[in-house]
Amino acid sequence: MKEVILIKLGEIVLKGLNRKSFEDRLIKNIKHRLHRIGAFKVRNAQSIITVEPVFDDIDMDETADCIAGIFGIAAFSRACVAEKDIGSIKETACRYLEDTFSTTASFKVEAKRSDKQFPLTSPQIAQEVGGCLAERFPDVAVDVHHPETVVTVEIREDAAYIHAGVIRGAGGIPVGTGGKAAILISGGIDSPVAAYMMAKRGIELTAIHFASPPYTSERAEEKVRQLLEKVAVYSGGMKMYTVPFTRLQEAIRDQCHEEYFTIIMRRLMMTIAQEIARKNDCQALITGESLGQVASQTIGAIACTDEACQMPVFRPLIGMDKEEIITISRKIDTFSTSIQPYEDCCTVFTPRHPRTRPVLKNVLAQQDKISDADSLIREAVENVRITDIS
Ligand code: ATP
Ligand code: MG
Repeated sequence: MKEVILIKLGEIVLKGLNRKSFEDRLIKNIKHRLHRIGAFKVRNAQSIITVEPVFDDIDMDETADCIAGIFGIAAFSRACVAEKDIGSIKETACRYLEDTFSTTASFKVEAKRSDKQFPLTSPQIAQEVGGCLAERFPDVAVDVHHPETVVTVEIREDAAYIHAGVIRGAGGIPVGTGGKAAILISGGIDSPVAAYMMAKRGIELTAIHFASPPYTSERAEEKVRQLLEKVAVYSGGMKMYTVPFTRLQEAIRDQCHEEYFTIIMRRLMMTIAQEIARKNDCQALITGESLGQVASQTIGAIACTDEACQMPVFRPLIGMDKEEIITISRKIDTFSTSIQPYEDCCTVFTPRHPRTRPVLKNVLAQQDKISDADSLIREAVENVRITDIS
């Protein structure tokens, strides 16, 4: 018995003239993601993408899990393929649904006939297949109003497909159709969620992480890599740029007033991130900030931070509560890694009383005190380390 996956397109169907390029990108993403599982034929016909394993030994549970993480897919079904004659459809349905019917109490059959040449009408197909299943599984009741299992038979151009339910997809739009942006990633809870949310809107990611050894450890960096690997399940692979930030942080500590440590550090992060982003064709920065969460995330602090860069800064979590962010981080499986207690450069040299309403003029005056800022920034950019995240 041959099992395939039928994919219903999500928001893509709203894209009018761009639809073709969105579909092409989605198919490319599907092929790329499935590559490590095995060989598949991926076809697009009649608003449905069919994913068919080339060989019989493919693990279809793993395939379905992989499909469930691909943005641009609203829903999909695991389906069995049958020849287009009613005898073969009935026989295949009875065999394919044996497992499902051993745990279900009631069912009904729906038929869709997109190939109008097929000799039976949709109600006739439903009746034939339903009758056959009822006879073969007498303990499972027919219930046309509230069935536990809905069996669907689809007669398409190339074959007949039988499935027992629709699985919700990851939604969103295909990664790569929304341009490229750089996520400023820490080891915390928020930034991996922010990365996931922008990938869901079609953004291809590049990651930038600031490390301040020896104040931050190799294990803290390893944690960030692990988080990005979990984000990559949804966003696809990316490059991670690790910026050596120690000398700049020490310069801030030695030359600026303590109240301004955090805000100046964040401005320098934005300046450096923007430069790396530009070199990598990114059109925006992404952060995991949420309004009012900490002193550096007030309106005033964000205004002073943004003044240090010209690119748009996306903050998808800006209006979310911590609990809402945690719910998503659990869903994408980053939470347990995020809560491991490793230090971040943001927690090095934290002021006892940070300014929550910084005045830009004063911030700039403090930042100007760093005598060799330009050369330290250049040094940081020139010494980034690049890691591939797959
Ligand atoms: P997170 O949970 O993402 O660490 P947070 O609530 O701890 O966020 P901050 O530490 O103030 O908040 O950081 C705010 C944002 O700045 C982060 O969401 C992230 O986008 C960025 N950021 C913080 N630390 C780093 C770092 N070491 N490297 C790159 N970006 C960072
Ligand atoms: Mg943090």
